[in-house]
Amino acid sequence: MKAIAVTPRTQNSARLIDAPTPALHEHGALVHVIRCGICGTDAEINQGLYGEAPRGSDYLILGHENLGRVEQVGASVRAVKPGDLVVATVRRPDDCHNCSHGESDMCLKGDYSERGIKGLHGYLAEYYLEVPEYLIPVPPELVDVAVLLEPLTIVEKGLWQAYKIQERLMWEPRTAVVFGAGTVGLLAALALRAKGLTVAVVALSPRGTLNSQIAEAAGAQYFSTQDISIDDLPKKLGRIDVIFEATGSSLVAMKTLEILGVNGISILSSVTGGNKTVQFPADVVNQRMVLGNMVAFGTVNANRRYFDMGVGSLAQFQKLWPGLLMRFVTRRVPLADFTIEVLEDRNGVKTTIEISKE
Ligand SMILES: [Zn+2]
Repeated sequence: MKAIAVTPRTQNSARLIDAPTPALHEHGALVHVIRCGICGTDAEINQGLYGEAPRGSDYLILGHENLGRVEQVGASVRAVKPGDLVVATVRRPDDCHNCSHGESDMCLKGDYSERGIKGLHGYLAEYYLEVPEYLIPVPPELVDVAVLLEPLTIVEKGLWQAYKIQERLMWEPRTAVVFGAGTVGLLAALALRAKGLTVAVVALSPRGTLNSQIAEAAGAQYFSTQDISIDDLPKKLGRIDVIFEATGSSLVAMKTLEILGVNGISILSSVTGGNKTVQFPADVVNQRMVLGNMVAFGTVNANRRYFDMGVGSLAQFQKLWPGLLMRFVTRRVPLADFTIEVLEDRNGVKTTIEISKE
């Protein structure tokens, strides 16, 4: 079968390869991939920053934002059947306490593996094999948008955890700010709007780009940092109850603590791989957090619970804003036309690699 693979830790090694089609076994399902989304993680693996091949392999098949259709199942498989649309989760557990209880996103040891990233082949291939435990069935009416489910799970987990944490007090959030207007930021804006909050999306790009149009179509306000200083947001918006940070900038992540409102919560989701040091108003921020009962927490990856929740949210978003999710996919590249440039393309919102017909 055709697949897109890298030689891990080797810059610009992403290429189309011929790889063996996985062989079906009794407990597995063979999935024909429909499409995969490309994200910054894939680009960083291609840049050689991280990525790990499966044991015994000198290449790693990329791809973790996936959608496919079950083609064949093993004799003991009951949970999915041929023809089912499925999205596979990404992380696979090690033997720590949390992993052993279905929460590999909360892994204690760090010996987990991740398909397309760390120690396991990904989904940018014509086929993959998986056990039903890691396959999320998707209703047929979501076929054209379900490639967004994996990035949406980051939002689902962040918000679910934020609301869970805020059970510590009487809390009626009204205003949310999302930093970053990439796929995760925009999906966070939709999710917060769906909860009925007033939402402002703050990002680098000027107003008028597709990213701002998507935010505004969901009823969010859009501010470019070219037009407004982050410090001025509370004056503009009033008390900020929730912040979802998805810019990739540690500076912005720290800045959220300077503008968060009383009793508020800041959800930090940017994986900042660099080594940046910044000046930070520590006394002011600490005092604000103490006197304002504030919480900031980090969130990474997502277990099956958040995929199941995400399926419901995709259907809800489709109902609230018909056609809006389709606008996220700004470039579709057939598998055979893959080049490294596709991974580096920063225009638009989401690029997908199209592998087979829906
Ligand atoms: Zn673990």
